Amino acid sequence: MTARAAFILPAIAAVAATATLAAPACAAEPLPVLLDVLVAAHPQHLAGHDGANLIWKDGTRMPASDADGAKSFAALLQRPSIADQFAIPYPLGRAPSPPGTNEDPGRIRNENFFIKMYGDCRRGAVAPALVSTRWVAGTTLSATRINGVAGRLAAVARALEALPGDLAKFLAPPAGAYHCRAIAGTGRLSAHAFGAAIDVNARYGDYWRWSMAAGAAPAWKNRVPAQIVEMFERHGFIWGGRWYHYDTFHFEYRPELVALAKRVATQP
Ligand SMILES: [Zn+2]
Repeated sequence: MTARAAFILPAIAAVAATATLAAPACAAEPLPVLLDVLVAAHPQHLAGHDGANLIWKDGTRMPASDADGAKSFAALLQRPSIADQFAIPYPLGRAPSPPGTNEDPGRIRNENFFIKMYGDCRRGAVAPALVSTRWVAGTTLSATRINGVAGRLAAVARALEALPGDLAKFLAPPAGAYHCRAIAGTGRLSAHAFGAAIDVNARYGDYWRWSMAAGAAPAWKNRVPAQIVEMFERHGFIWGGRWYHYDTFHFEYRPELVALAKRVATQP
């Protein structure tokens, strides 16, 4: 932790102060820095910010934080601000290993931000941007072309196919990309509802809800090789295997989280 802690966001402070959350690497950054990272990661739709509001290319302004103060982990998931999306640092480059309690980087999604970026599938607004894209072993996926997601998935497929070893079985057949649905057990839209996520082969996937005995804590397990994780991350996707509430065959396009992790790692 550095002097930047003085700028720590209330939500980050809430997470850090929660005894049940094992402390991840400190990545608290001033709000303008978080917004710089977010804008740079989404040049197609974001024009900039004024330090407090995100400014879209169509002129829309969205407040980046809210007046809710410190939030519980549940509140971060249910009603996060745009800045709260950065509340839990993404451990880029860490070897696959069990996350700390409630360490769920990327599961915090501001729904208005995602709907503005990709559309609301419940109103048919995502479908016009969907394209069929090539995946591994002759399979195809339906993903959004917004932010180049579909093209990036095709690039991940080409790169993974070029690696030695039998990786294809982990990747194909894919369990799906675009799907207009809520996250299981919640009313919140899944990243799949925006066409910006992919589930690879479910046969080698593990999901916290599948393995958790009623009332017990999630017991992390993973069969997805690190080379696959690394290749997705190189293209701006985060991995659900880095979540306490794990979903090891899930990847979603979150270049801002990858970019912030790189920035923190390269700072003196
Ligand atoms: Zn998924």
